[in-house]
Amino acid sequence: MGGAAAGLAASALPGSPALAQDSGKTGADKVDVLLIGGGVMSATLGVWLNELEPGWSIRMLERLDTVAMESSNGWNNAGTGHSALAELNYTPEKKGKVEIAKAVEINEAFQVTRQFLAWQVKNGVLKDPKTFINYTPHMSFVWGDDNVAYLRKRYEALKASPLFAGMEFSTDPERLKTWVPLMMEGRDPNQKVAATWSPLGTDVEWGEVTRQYVAHLQRQTRFRLDVSTEVQDIVKNPDGSWRVTARNLKDGSRRAVDAKFVFIGAGGGALHLLQASGIPEGQDYAGFPVGGSFLINENPDVATLHLAKAYGKASVGSPPMSVPHLDTRVLGGKRVLLFGPFATFSTKFLKEGSYLDLLTSTTSSNVWPMMRVGIDEFPLVEYLAGQLMLSDDDRLAALREYFPKARKGEWRLWQAGQRVQIIKRDKDKGGVLKLGTEIVAAKDGSIAALLGASPGASTAAPIMLEVLEKVFSKNVATPEWQAKIRRIVPSYGQKLNDDPEKVAEEWAYTSEQLQLPAPPAIDRGPLKPTPVSDTVLNSRDTPVKGPVGDLAP
Ligand SMILES: Cc1cc2nc3c(=O)[nH]c(=O)nc-3n(C[C@H](O)[C@H](O)[C@H](O)COP(=O)(O)OP(=O)(O)OC[C@H]3O[C@@H](n4cnc5c(N)ncnc54)[C@H](O)[C@@H]3O)c2cc1C
Repeated sequence: MGGAAAGLAASALPGSPALAQDSGKTGADKVDVLLIGGGVMSATLGVWLNELEPGWSIRMLERLDTVAMESSNGWNNAGTGHSALAELNYTPEKKGKVEIAKAVEINEAFQVTRQFLAWQVKNGVLKDPKTFINYTPHMSFVWGDDNVAYLRKRYEALKASPLFAGMEFSTDPERLKTWVPLMMEGRDPNQKVAATWSPLGTDVEWGEVTRQYVAHLQRQTRFRLDVSTEVQDIVKNPDGSWRVTARNLKDGSRRAVDAKFVFIGAGGGALHLLQASGIPEGQDYAGFPVGGSFLINENPDVATLHLAKAYGKASVGSPPMSVPHLDTRVLGGKRVLLFGPFATFSTKFLKEGSYLDLLTSTTSSNVWPMMRVGIDEFPLVEYLAGQLMLSDDDRLAALREYFPKARKGEWRLWQAGQRVQIIKRDKDKGGVLKLGTEIVAAKDGSIAALLGASPGASTAAPIMLEVLEKVFSKNVATPEWQAKIRRIVPSYGQKLNDDPEKVAEEWAYTSEQLQLPAPPAIDRGPLKPTPVSDTVLNSRDTPVKGPVGDLAP
């Protein structure tokens, strides 16, 4: 199989030719690991496992005709390499203090991602870095006295951390013009604006990363991808393995696979499959779908004038993933501009899903948590209702707040992916809405699912490492796995924020491998980085309400 698959272009990944069937008397193929879904999460876990245990057989089942067609597709997400350089929801202001602990945590996670990607480039798993990661400064851009004051405080607080080195802050329109000319041209000269700018930002094409990972896995003899194959049931076998039954959506045939370990990396489809497995850990969850649409501008004359991901502040009640941003994207080698997201609502859990998804995910154990969240999160419901009422002119008006001279005819509306937010049973509140990601695993580690979607693909490498730690804890503890993990992620087990020297070392290595510009110098002066818990800026100004204070995930 390896030879046949080796020549495949990364952009088209049909299923692999059949492996020798190992169905024995049971009629089911037997594998060590079954990955459900062909998105960035399953693909990343496949790459991890292939490096750690090349002898294990791995099967990937994908319901669509090829991999990376749902949320991981480049057109279905915003491609931000989330490292909290610009996203204001990770630095809430509470009682006049800007808290940066969450931002440091997100940034640390992205450092693992950088190292993982760099290793894959070094070893030929990923090809030309320009096909999937590109230098794109990350900016926060705000206006109004309160927001300007907040951004200044945020900048002062982040300056103490080596992970945010190189960030600049300015309120000077002339300086801002050099960073984002399109955002400044035509702006009211009396408007008070401020921005931060970080040279460490990236735009990442997660779909391309996924395709290149899977193409690499297809070159391994013990890996097989079955596309157009929808998993419909998951049942535990008496020997502790899982029987996974799937239907071929082209010819209607059914097949069963017995797997020692199952990873449900089905994106929006994960909740249903977790429920199908019947593990008690899955009963605490429900899902709430929120989609996103973007305005896209493919005019190269305009796209080349903006090189940044410029994040604004969220509207009251809106979820953090709805923060407006004007982005440079590189998709299929072409630079385009994207603005949004505008929240959309559909009862589907996947872009290519069913309108019955929300209804069929409702069970007697999760209906109450869902109702509680509906009541407690009313601002979110109101926000979504408001978004659904938006006209084309409303969306253009929102865009012009960022790009005052945006021309109507140049922008088209694009429906991106669905995110299924987690609703979890809570003993005090009945149910809570969780905006992050959660790994749900059976106690015996034989099955695990990934729920939620934020900060998303950017954390695939560290989150899949967490899956390994959770379900293969004994293997992770062995000197062999430890050595391999540390080769791939040299900072494994270390908090980089506490070690400026190590940050500089890893940035130099990853920037070179990923062909990103030389990283900024880190101030290693007499001031040691402040421990995160203390790294808040005590306001000497009048406390102002932060623009996103209520939106901490
Ligand atoms: C609007 C939007 C913007 C985003 N922006 C960013 C961003 O800027 N940066 C970032 O890092 N992340 C972002 N994300 C999040 C990111 O896209 C996701 O977290 C990530 O792609 C999820 O990967 P996944 O593999 O879990 O899911 P997916 O990519 O959705 O893959 C799941 C796969 O499982 C398949 N599947 C489902 N059910 C079955 C079944 N029963 N049988 C077989 N196959 C099945 C699906 O067809 C799909 O291919 C964004 C998401 C959205 C929606």
